[in-house]
Amino acid sequence: MTLSISERRSQLLDRIAAAAQRCDRDPSSITLLAASKAQSTEKIRQAMTSGQMVFGENYLQEALDKMSEISDTALAWHYIGNVQTNKCKSIAAHFDWVQGVSRIKEAERLSKQRSEKLSPLNLCIEVNIDAVENKGGVLSEELVPLAQAISELPNVRLRGLMAIPEPRDTHEAQRDIFCRVADLLYQLNDRGFECDTLSMGMSHDFEAAIEAGSTMVRIGTALFGERHRHPAA
Ligand SMILES: *Cc1c(COP(=O)(O)O)cnc(C)c1O
Repeated sequence: MTLSISERRSQLLDRIAAAAQRCDRDPSSITLLAASKAQSTEKIRQAMTSGQMVFGENYLQEALDKMSEISDTALAWHYIGNVQTNKCKSIAAHFDWVQGVSRIKEAERLSKQRSEKLSPLNLCIEVNIDAVENKGGVLSEELVPLAQAISELPNVRLRGLMAIPEPRDTHEAQRDIFCRVADLLYQLNDRGFECDTLSMGMSHDFEAAIEAGSTMVRIGTALFGERHRHPAA
């Protein structure tokens, strides 16, 4: 029998809490972000009914369509896709967070386009922790200058880091690479930045991410089931 979204969500929250407790962390310090790309508004509504308030979307037009259909101002929307400079205006107008900034030009545009009437747009810098070629995110040595530049922009607020490491086979190897991302965040805070967000961990590795200090796990398939169409479609 297939489980409902509400049942899957409560199982996920149990697993998040258990992982937190294993490493003496407070489960309430970890946010479950529902990665809802290529999932229907019907499924989003089911998640909302079970208490889910934080959603992440990758494709701008799909996200805007869903937002206008749902129009619930209590929800928080995170843009977790590729930031393209020609989309910054719309992203800055409609989202609460952008996870995955890796160029100053994008951050400048987002800040410029963010209305001063809204609260600052929350940003996470994406870190290319495995230094894979042609992948989004900054290399660790590029992190401090970018964080510095973002912190000088008026309408955005640097909240922390996000990363999507390459898949690894063992729990220990997953945890080790997430720990390297966490170290980068601690280094930023040692330099006086005030970052509170480590967005890392997805359906297949979120428990290892929590053990490494993740404060936000972004979960799609384990919550909603398989995505039904190619996300880019
Ligand atoms: C799709 C997506 C997720 C969720 O992936 P699952 O493996 O389905 O949990 C998380 N983060 C980002 C950036 C994504 O694009």
